[in-house]
Amino acid sequence: MTDIAALDAADPLAGFRDRFEIPDGLVYLDGNSLGCLPKATKARLADVVEREWGQDLIRSWNTNDWINAPRRIGAKIARLIGAHDDEVIVGDTTSINVFKCLSASLQLDSSRVVLLSETGNFPTDVYMMEGLAAIAPDRISPRLVEPERIHEALDDDVAVLLLTQTNYRSGRIRDMKAITEAAHARGIPVIWDLSHSCGALPVDLNGCNADFAVGCGYKYLNGGPGAPAFTFVARRHQDSVFPALSGWLGHKVPFEFTDDYQPAPGIDRFQCGTPGILGCAALEVGVDLLLEADMSDIRRKSSALGDLFIALVHEHCADHGFKLASPGNADERGSQVSFHHPEGYAIMQALIARGVIGDFRAPDILRFGFAPLYNSYADVEQAVATLTEIMETGSWDTEEFKQKAAVT
Ligand SMILES: *Cc1c(COP(=O)(O)O)cnc(C)c1O
Repeated sequence: MTDIAALDAADPLAGFRDRFEIPDGLVYLDGNSLGCLPKATKARLADVVEREWGQDLIRSWNTNDWINAPRRIGAKIARLIGAHDDEVIVGDTTSINVFKCLSASLQLDSSRVVLLSETGNFPTDVYMMEGLAAIAPDRISPRLVEPERIHEALDDDVAVLLLTQTNYRSGRIRDMKAITEAAHARGIPVIWDLSHSCGALPVDLNGCNADFAVGCGYKYLNGGPGAPAFTFVARRHQDSVFPALSGWLGHKVPFEFTDDYQPAPGIDRFQCGTPGILGCAALEVGVDLLLEADMSDIRRKSSALGDLFIALVHEHCADHGFKLASPGNADERGSQVSFHHPEGYAIMQALIARGVIGDFRAPDILRFGFAPLYNSYADVEQAVATLTEIMETGSWDTEEFKQKAAVT
């Protein structure tokens, strides 16, 4: 028998749980999709709304430093992902930032035409490749290969390789260093999507000699629904790129209002239009909170929560048809555990109805995310106890739980 209370008592991150709003009785295992609300965000947003917007109005761009929010928060995120503070900028969505990086990569070597990614990648990344290719169908072609075939697909036509470091379905982690090295050996830059990595595990972009990266603000960074995303561009590439999304705030001197676009030096050119200040304010609180924690504690706990979850499901639900969809070895797994089950959707709805929130990913995956800052070992125990009861009583097997909602 695992002593769950002892695990929580010995947890160096236990103090963070109280810094988040967590509804009473709820076991929230979906921080990989929408992170919980940091309590401090409420006061910060109230201040931005009432004082900075309400009273200071347009003066706030200078007096409350709104104009530098994308750089300032980018520099903080840089510390979480092994980047220099002038290599990360906050803004737009992950999808849009993927587009920026893809189009930037095409400029590094204009003789190359293929945008390469893998089947089963997060759809938006691949869709953005298709959209970019549609601009110049005679020149650019997207190509998807099976995950195991990436290495052999790295040929002289490939302009860029786009991969997600932690797969959103299985949670499997790609070896960023080895793949980046292999791609560079063929002259190919790599774009890493860190959406399921940043804030959940140590990332060392510069240690891997990474070229480009993007990531999401509303998952483990706890920036709130639709939070601004971020873009990383290695120093060595920044000034070689004329941004495809050449918005005025990426201009060298935006307030000169000149007729032609001249890109700002450095990472600033990857900014496009006016940043959403409310979103930035909420994101900054989430990032500040993460910066208080030790990333190696986060990783250790994340692995332990996942291992415990897998062990308890195997122990209590062995006869109920769950098949592990994530690596059993925590070193190969991000901060989530997924199981296949043919009735996964209905089972997840039954869990949610009982106050255990995870999510479902087609075609048959139940996904449970562990956010080490606020999830406890007791959460894991409670989640598996509820799952066991639902399976033993068959209470998931109703028409109500089989009705698909718009968002799963
Ligand atoms: C969540 C996620 C996104 C989200 O993109 P948005 O533009 O914010 O909707 C993109 N890529 C990956 C890998 C994700 O997990």
